[in-house]
Amino acid sequence: MADQIKFTLLGTGTSQGVPVIACDCKVCTSADPRDNRLRTSVLIEYRQQVLVIDTGPDFRQQMLRQKVKKLDAVLFTHEHKDHVAGLDDVRAFNFRQKEAIDVYAEPRVQDALRREYAYIFADDRYPGIPSVNMHLLENKPFQIGALTIQPIRVMHYKLPILGFRIGNFAYLTDVKSVPEEELSKLAGLEVLIVTALRKEPHISHMSLSEALEQVERIRPIQTYLTHLNHTFGLHAIEDAQLPKGVNIAYDGLEILQQL
Ligand SMILES: [Zn+2]
Ligand SMILES: [Zn+2]
Repeated sequence: MADQIKFTLLGTGTSQGVPVIACDCKVCTSADPRDNRLRTSVLIEYRQQVLVIDTGPDFRQQMLRQKVKKLDAVLFTHEHKDHVAGLDDVRAFNFRQKEAIDVYAEPRVQDALRREYAYIFADDRYPGIPSVNMHLLENKPFQIGALTIQPIRVMHYKLPILGFRIGNFAYLTDVKSVPEEELSKLAGLEVLIVTALRKEPHISHMSLSEALEQVERIRPIQTYLTHLNHTFGLHAIEDAQLPKGVNIAYDGLEILQQL
């Protein structure tokens, strides 16, 4: 029997978020809530399971805004601060659920987490600190409860990072290029979430035109652009100019699918 899975975009902004501190540009001062972008993250809800991809600096605010009452697991795409800086706040779920939270990360990302959150992994644990169960993430399908997750290897400039496919939904943030050999994993997608940082080229993120080229290659039914910075332009104006089946993501966007 098919069950519904819900993906909620918790944040769709680049590393600084939008508005940018002290910026008076038209996007940063826009009254349209879709122009306010917390740091990039996705909430995944299926049956009783609740997962997030990345815990950025806005994780606490995102959990409060979305009224998330339970968290089973965190999947990390990579170790950059805008994707890991909120990990300390999983404590709230530790206290509430009286259990450690499962965290999935590649070896390099695990090393970074152990460095940046040395106290979490210390033998002599200070009372009240977060409690996590670290799981090895490899570039092969794995299971979290009833969900099968297919990692996708993508390149963030020279840094190999991971995207994820669940059912016919895929999430590729912070991507500059998608290797040819990974394309078959993205066949038959209904929804693709993909980075389009801005219109100007950038060394480690796809620009709008590069993202649209990937859409041509991957051919999902619907694409949402994420990890935008404030130079991209106003949501209402830019969204209306995109090709059919491509839209700009916004914080709070919900995507429902049958799994
Ligand atoms: Zn990022
Ligand atoms: Zn601005």
